[in-house]
Amino acid sequence: MSDQTEWRDLQVALRTASDIAFDQEIPSGEQADVLLDALRRAQAAALALAAGPGTTGCRVHPHGAVDPLYGDKEDPLPPGWGKCLLCNDRRRRAATNRRGAATGRRGMR
Ligand SMILES: [Zn+2]
Repeated sequence: MSDQTEWRDLQVALRTASDIAFDQEIPSGEQADVLLDALRRAQAAALALAAGPGTTGCRVHPHGAVDPLYGDKEDPLPPGWGKCLLCNDRRRRAATNRRGAATGRRGMR
C-alpha cells in the first residue's frame, strides 16, 4: 500500500474516532466498539507510515525489516550491502554457501 493510502486511512479512522469520542454522550456498547475499531485502524496506518517508504532503501522490499546489523560499528556489514534484512540474508546465505559453514558468529542476536 502507498503512503497516500495509509495517510487517508489514518485520517478517516481518526475522524471516526474523534466523532465518537467528542460526541455529546459517553460512547458505550456498539459506539465503543466502533471507536475501538477506528483506533486500531488508525494505529495500523500510523505504524505503516512510521515504517515509511524505503525504510530499507530496497526496491523489492521497501517495507521489509531493516537489518539489525546495519550501522553496527563492531560488526559492520560488507561494503555495498543495504539496509534490507531480506536481501542481506540472501547475500549471507550465498556467502555461507561459498565459504562453507564459517559464519556461526552472525546468528541470532
Ligand atoms: Zn530487499
